Amino acid sequence: MWDEELKAIDNEIFELEIKEAQRINEGLELIPSENFPSKAVLRALGSVFNNKYAEGYPGKRYYGGNQYIDIVENLAIERAKKLFGAEHVNVQPYSGSPANIAVYFALLEFGETFMGMNLAHGGHLTHGHKVNFSGKAYRVVHYGVDSETHLIDYDEVRKIALQEKPKIIVSGATAYPREIDFKVFHEIAEEVGAISMADISHIAGLIVAGVHQSPFPFTDVVTTTTHKTLRGPRGAMIMCKEKFAKAIDRAVFPGLQGGPHEHVIAAKAVAFKEAMQPEFKEYGRQIVKNAKALADRLMSQGFKLITDGTDNHLILIDLRNKGLTGKEAEEALDKAGITVNKNMIPYDPRSPFDPSGIRLGTPAVTTRGMKESEMKYIGDLINKAIENYKDNRKLEEIRNEVKELCKDFVIYR
Ligand SMILES: *Cc1c(COP(=O)(O)O)cnc(C)c1O
Repeated sequence: MWDEELKAIDNEIFELEIKEAQRINEGLELIPSENFPSKAVLRALGSVFNNKYAEGYPGKRYYGGNQYIDIVENLAIERAKKLFGAEHVNVQPYSGSPANIAVYFALLEFGETFMGMNLAHGGHLTHGHKVNFSGKAYRVVHYGVDSETHLIDYDEVRKIALQEKPKIIVSGATAYPREIDFKVFHEIAEEVGAISMADISHIAGLIVAGVHQSPFPFTDVVTTTTHKTLRGPRGAMIMCKEKFAKAIDRAVFPGLQGGPHEHVIAAKAVAFKEAMQPEFKEYGRQIVKNAKALADRLMSQGFKLITDGTDNHLILIDLRNKGLTGKEAEEALDKAGITVNKNMIPYDPRSPFDPSGIRLGTPAVTTRGMKESEMKYIGDLINKAIENYKDNRKLEEIRNEVKELCKDFVIYR
């Protein structure tokens, strides 16, 4: 994959790519929103499909010369429809955040009300946080998780919905370790006359694999990134019932975006094809098995997990009993070659810049072929790093152990 031409023209960037690949190969990537797409996906990203202006949609473009681009975009759409059982798909959103904004722009007037999960309880910025466009342009009501169980309290969601009459109810999260009941969310939306929207960015790959409830066919609008568990290029798509198709398409283009990134759309098509193979189901199942194995190991070492475990790809640790903060843990683990991110825990008494928790996930290490036995070992390494978080020599030792483990799981040669 190392192109001689890049080396000749810009050796600085070339050398940095070598270093980044080495960093990836020698470290453990446990950020739950990250993954390693195949070389086929990366190859499509670096293709001549980058070059074309294709404003509009297949068959209705504002530029000539789109005969092949149209086929590419239609392939991506048709594959996504099949993969999820969606009625209508728009593959043009540049990323997850603009995809969500496009849905609100399509279906709400400014100032109207929608409902989403509180960021501090696991929601996303684009689910109505006050610093985000979604929280400034619309009136937002939030639901969260129960203060005892840390689970979504569906009765509470219903109560707030009945009271506030939102026009859209958004389900989906970035830091929720349990299964989300999209059916119940949809029923609540129906009861209050709202549109149901599911943001499945984190768990799309698990849904394809059949290890998480699907929001189809009942949910009105479903958004997802394509670069998380779905293992595609950085990007997103919106899937919806036919009756919302026109409004959604118009909101994406010309409402929010100009020329679609057709090289990314080509890479989405490749990723969808990969996700349609039987091996992908096995991959999704292994992500969850690995998360459970890692969770069990961590709990056996005295780590306090939010909801005492996981149903999906993600683990949220409350570090308060370990005597360090999320930031300190993130930094220590980084020195040990283990990449995680600090994260708020529900009802966190600390600030988002130095919260009480860390969030980890298994999609990327599962892509590398690691299984339950490696997860147990990784759990031990994490424990050792946390216990010695001030000891740089110990952390360096752990880093070497991580390197040793990674030698058997090279991802980019
Ligand atoms: C990652 C994520 C997004 C945003 O995706 P970006 O591509 O980073 O803009 C939106 N919603 C949820 C639930 C996510 O996990």
